[in-house]
Amino acid sequence: MKKTKIVGTIGPTSFDKNIIHEMLDNGMDVVRLNLSHASFSFCDKVIKMIRELEEELNRPIGIMLDLDGPSVRLDKFIEGSVNLEEGKEIKIYNYPVICNNTQFSVNYENISHELVSGDTLLLSDGKVILEVVESLNDYALLKVIAGGEIKSNQTVYVRNKELKLPFISDKDHENIMYAIKKNVDFLALSYVRDEQDVLEVTDLLIENENNHINLIAKIENNSALNNLDEIIKVSDGVMVARGDLAIEVSFEKLPYFQKTILSKAKEYEKVGIVATDFLMSMEENPRPSRSEISDIYNAVMDGCDAILLSGETTIGKYPALAVDTLTKVILSAEEDYDYDDNLMDIFENKLDDITSNIAYSVLLSATKLNAKCIIANTYSGYTASKISQTRCKTPILGLSPFYETVRLLTINYGVYPKKTVECKSADTILKMCTKEAIKTFDLVDDDIVIITGGLPISNKNTNFMEIEVIEKEA
Ligand code: PEP
Repeated sequence: MKKTKIVGTIGPTSFDKNIIHEMLDNGMDVVRLNLSHASFSFCDKVIKMIRELEEELNRPIGIMLDLDGPSVRLDKFIEGSVNLEEGKEIKIYNYPVICNNTQFSVNYENISHELVSGDTLLLSDGKVILEVVESLNDYALLKVIAGGEIKSNQTVYVRNKELKLPFISDKDHENIMYAIKKNVDFLALSYVRDEQDVLEVTDLLIENENNHINLIAKIENNSALNNLDEIIKVSDGVMVARGDLAIEVSFEKLPYFQKTILSKAKEYEKVGIVATDFLMSMEENPRPSRSEISDIYNAVMDGCDAILLSGETTIGKYPALAVDTLTKVILSAEEDYDYDDNLMDIFENKLDDITSNIAYSVLLSATKLNAKCIIANTYSGYTASKISQTRCKTPILGLSPFYETVRLLTINYGVYPKKTVECKSADTILKMCTKEAIKTFDLVDDDIVIITGGLPISNKNTNFMEIEVIEKEA
């Protein structure tokens, strides 16, 4: 069983219940819907499929909605795209115009007022480069420095410039309300610039009495890198959004930022996800390239909780095979991961609360006794995620009577979440825990398991640890 989680984005080529089922069987743990492309009616259908599959497969499935964020996007071209020729001029308008190869508009009515002569605009993943010649009241005149195809809805980047867009646009306000209504598990916040952006979304969730949704800050611009510590502190997790980040920073620095962001996430005990281009060649081919295999292996070695697939599973020809390939490489990397080395790091941590102390004691006993699993009987998921942060070799069975809790644990490294019945006494909790562990990990007599949780039942804090030796007939 793999420990590193897989987030799979659903799009046109995976929009089918059987394919999603296959992706789940092949190792997908969390389903992502990207609201920059997916409509609410598309999301409604996928969410319905996921909740049905959750029942049918008797396993929790996390759902992540990815917001638009304060991004400038191209309006629609009649033909869907146009080709820009190097040396030609084109106008960018503040208000909607018919978009073609001489003019286009974007979703930001102030664009020409913020651009100055000499600014650089990057389109089509940075391949198309436009330079501002002059800025006027209604539009800015641009010169094509590097030509190529640009498509409807693509992001427009202004190099080294932070535009004064509000973090929560009207559309994202609607998106967040939709996420609340659908009670999804994770919101991925695109183009976060500082901690205030994250806190604005937190406030909106609180105002709407949602204390479930976890916030994943996408690190994809220079401002986010400059405010990394503050952003991570107020988020539940971070995503190394390599697609956009590679356009903002010098691309050769991308591996450095991946390692830095993941190690910061670990320092603050938050979830770390890496996204984009892991298996891009599999959009067309049934086999990955050699460099993609190494990239996946290295992301696991960098200590991420989850790897995210986007194009591979939204528009690629082999969505289920891509998940299967990712699982195979993850398993191979995990075989080589130095868990003992990791244990040494943990001793350097400050153990200043009860849950942390229990989590670390559990981990040490599990390691010393070569336990087959750690069972975290958890209300909020906190204990299980805390143990997961230690990157222990022993698998963690995250049990909770609440769907919301086990769905959140689908993203945590090494945690196998399972919804259980609510137990009425300490004795029934312990019995239920061992029964679930025997089923999940095929345990045999004399195997050791470590159980942790909160007792009495009404106690929502973790306060006990029990070492059990399996006796199947008992
Ligand atoms: C990215 O930029 O890598 C990313 C994951 O964001 P999106 O898919 O929204 O472009």
